[in-house]
Amino acid sequence: MSDFHPQQYLRPHIREMEEYTPIQPFEVLSKRLGIPAARIVKLDANENPYGPVPGVAEALAEYPFYHIYPDPQQEELRAALSRFVGVPAEHILPTHGADEMLDYLCRLFLGPGDRVINCPPTFGMYSFDAGLVGAQVVEVWRRHDHSVDVDGIERAVQEAQADTFPRLLFLTSPNNPSGTWLPDEDLRRLLALPLLVVLDEAYVEFADHPSRAPWVLEHENLVVLRTFSKAAGIAGLRLGYGICPAWLMAQLWKFKQPYNVNVAATVAGLASLRHVDQILEVVGRLKAERERLLAGLQQVPYLRPYPSQANFILCDVVGLDALALKQALEQRGVLVRHYNKPGLANCIRISVGRPDQTDRLLEELHSLALETR
Ligand SMILES: *Cc1c(COP(=O)(O)O)cnc(C)c1O
Repeated sequence: MSDFHPQQYLRPHIREMEEYTPIQPFEVLSKRLGIPAARIVKLDANENPYGPVPGVAEALAEYPFYHIYPDPQQEELRAALSRFVGVPAEHILPTHGADEMLDYLCRLFLGPGDRVINCPPTFGMYSFDAGLVGAQVVEVWRRHDHSVDVDGIERAVQEAQADTFPRLLFLTSPNNPSGTWLPDEDLRRLLALPLLVVLDEAYVEFADHPSRAPWVLEHENLVVLRTFSKAAGIAGLRLGYGICPAWLMAQLWKFKQPYNVNVAATVAGLASLRHVDQILEVVGRLKAERERLLAGLQQVPYLRPYPSQANFILCDVVGLDALALKQALEQRGVLVRHYNKPGLANCIRISVGRPDQTDRLLEELHSLALETR
């Protein structure tokens, strides 16, 4: 009994995982910088600066049944999503953010040692969730222009032995953090491979191309992820959804937590879907602002911005340390995301904000250019 330690029962791959660094809450940062939250220009997490449509707050205030458990089948929300996405409700599963769907997929398909293909640089949750179940992540790096290396993925699949066959392929279009679109012809080639393709469309509303959600009806091996966090502006309420083939829906109904989507998220999602016209109006404003921001960033001598199909712009920082730049902007109350890792050496990512926020950002970037000369 004396040398019993309950830690020894932890699964080894979990025990050995490194802790991840959580982001600093907005209010904490505001206190640390001594800048009131309202004056901070927050362009670091791709949130919608306009927030939800006004109907969301009204619907939340008026809803009378918070003491009642949610509908585990989310019938009303799925019917509304079906009209929005143009895919029958039987193929749609609402989740606690798109992140929850990623977790479900990893737990449904992967165990320790199983393989997935990831295409970095990209969103971090794919390798995070794969790591949680002990899966092995095979990395097929994007090309220099951030496009997906389709040949490389085909080769990785061909070269795999039967017992190391990758089961899932994570793709993001538009990609985060590069804003790159995955062309139809590339997706078609990848869907011909013997694996399940998970296409994350968290930013598709901002693209100049249509969603591939309807493709799920023709491809047994495609799952499309969507979310209310970005275009619909309710990241804090946690609402996403997966569009899945029928065979997978049957498994998900057995598998998911009955009350995975809470009532507030449901009410907010339904209110958003009653005002799609207003959401699209905001999306239009953000797309126009993205082009103005891109033009502005092209004028900053030490930045090389990449064109983007999403609500953010990735920039190479040239002749200046990107982390120092991020910190200098932070001191001035402007928050951007910084990267320095393979494929994203010395980069910053700037979310598209309101015009006044773009102006503040560009002003600070130019004043920093003068100081560092
Ligand atoms: C923000 C983001 C998500 C997360 O969506 P939630 O619905 O907030 O969980 C998913 N995928 C990508 C690529 C994202 O950037």
